[in-house]
Amino acid sequence: MTLISTEHLALKVHVPTNVLSTEAGNFSPELADSMDQNLLAIGERVLEAGERSLYKFFDFFDIGDYDIDIPVELWITGDIFNDEGDYYLGLCFNCQQIYINAWGYKIEETTAHEIFHCFQHSLGMWPPIQKWIVEGGAKMSEDIYEKSHNFEHNVYPKYLRHPETSLFEKSYEAALIWYEKYQTNSPDAVKLQYLAFAADTSRGTHANLLKDDWHQYALDLSNNSIVYDTNAGKKPTDHGGEINVSESGSVNIYQSNYSTSRWAFDLQPLSARYYVITIGAAIRNKANLIRFTLGQDLDINNDNLKISAAIKATQPDKSHKMVALKKTEKGEAYFQLCFKENTICKNDNEQDIYEDPYQIFVTITSTEPDQIFSINGTIDLFGPNRYELDEIHFNDGTLQVPDVGKFEIIIDTDNENEEDRGIYLVASKHWMAFDTEFYGWDEFGDPVTNPDVKVHPTRLTGYVNKLCRFRGNMGYDIESLGETKKLDDGWIERTFKIKRKEGDEGSGNFYKTKQKFVCGKPKAGTDLGTFGFPFYAAYAKMLAAINATDYGADSFAMKLRHIFAKNISLGLVDNNDSDTEGEVKMEFFTDQLLRIKYSDNLIFYYTKK
Ligand SMILES: [Zn+2]
Repeated sequence: MTLISTEHLALKVHVPTNVLSTEAGNFSPELADSMDQNLLAIGERVLEAGERSLYKFFDFFDIGDYDIDIPVELWITGDIFNDEGDYYLGLCFNCQQIYINAWGYKIEETTAHEIFHCFQHSLGMWPPIQKWIVEGGAKMSEDIYEKSHNFEHNVYPKYLRHPETSLFEKSYEAALIWYEKYQTNSPDAVKLQYLAFAADTSRGTHANLLKDDWHQYALDLSNNSIVYDTNAGKKPTDHGGEINVSESGSVNIYQSNYSTSRWAFDLQPLSARYYVITIGAAIRNKANLIRFTLGQDLDINNDNLKISAAIKATQPDKSHKMVALKKTEKGEAYFQLCFKENTICKNDNEQDIYEDPYQIFVTITSTEPDQIFSINGTIDLFGPNRYELDEIHFNDGTLQVPDVGKFEIIIDTDNENEEDRGIYLVASKHWMAFDTEFYGWDEFGDPVTNPDVKVHPTRLTGYVNKLCRFRGNMGYDIESLGETKKLDDGWIERTFKIKRKEGDEGSGNFYKTKQKFVCGKPKAGTDLGTFGFPFYAAYAKMLAAINATDYGADSFAMKLRHIFAKNISLGLVDNNDSDTEGEVKMEFFTDQLLRIKYSDNLIFYYTKK
């Protein structure tokens, strides 16, 4: 049975007899009749959708009836499968062989989609193997056919989960790009690109037609809330349902400290990459800048590579900008965002300061038709230079610094608040442990043979290692930078003139109290709690004895104190003398290592964090 349109005489819908249950005797007459009525009703729906599609598509392409291969013939079929068992709602081989699966659930949209294929076929926009434009285009035509149905947006998650896939490798989900171009650049722009494909399928031509707006499309489709300053981001304007932004294929990086993150990937032709960098609260208002390096061989002048950053910060509240790539002296491509005024940003002529940065959304796009950009670099947050104590060379041996605590030197020369600039020293918890093998215990004697000692040195060692801490912090202003000298072993020695900060709250224990050591309570289960002095009274007695003892300058106790006092005061404080200003010599190796020599017998080694 054939239904012929009265609107477009060249439009026919066939409901073949072998699909209809006309073969007598298969079913009861009542069931056969009902099934046939149903199929004919589907035929009517296809005819109506076909009429409407033709109007819309003739209008879209601005052509007339005879510009396509008439007649347009659609066939109602049963289930359609290919050799691989894939299920189809419809198929189009040419304008006379268009098949609509009667059991499909989107009869009207399928009809429009397949008729669009007939247009593509007639106008030379084939071969169908170029799915990014043939299927992506036909899927988008469902929007041209009927705005309110929006099945084309069902491909949104598939598109966005893999922004890294080249457009040329995409299929139905490429409809999102055509839809975006349709919204952004008008239906005419889409039509012209489709028509261009009829004459020229080369990637270069099509990459070029998308080039100017590709980055904007990537931003729009990212739906990112930082970019669009809303909780929901930007949705396709005619979309009825919710889009789950968390499904987008962005890489999340959490920076809670100054450690380096790597990023390395190949940026495919006509693709995008999204990175979300969240900066932890501990360093959010301390960091000076964030730097993204992209590798050595990158051509930073290739305008097919575009990068933008959307920044969520206290001030300015939210901001979005294209970033310019620069090259370091060593030839590495990079860009950076500044959070405080500092010499690096000043020297690089960075104008914008984003205070208290919370999150950064980086979008990288390529409009190269064939070449791949290889990105291989790091993401680094820069704050004040922080050096952490690694080793103490003492008495011709090496003391390892235990993991439980740390000793840091922070050299902050770039702080936007001038009064905050300076050198800071922070000792926390058990930042050093003393191994008994370093000391000649015999020379000290013990309380029985030498009443002056009061506490046996091995006992004292146990206390200091396990319980007694040298905690504290000190701050110094840098009065001036003295001479800089290259040492024989390649290290650079810098002399700082320093002065204790006025009103500095920080201090070492020995400044705050008369105690030589500050110790915690012995805990049950520890050596001291179990075997040594299980009761606090005994412990307190011991502590009082330690602190009341008048230790000789050469005693072990005073050596421990000496190491601590020297280190936390950059050498200005000794056991007996104390200066608030003076000179300190620090030695650096490529900015990454720091060592301070207080004597040939006492050298501290630090590593930059
Ligand atoms: Zn199709």
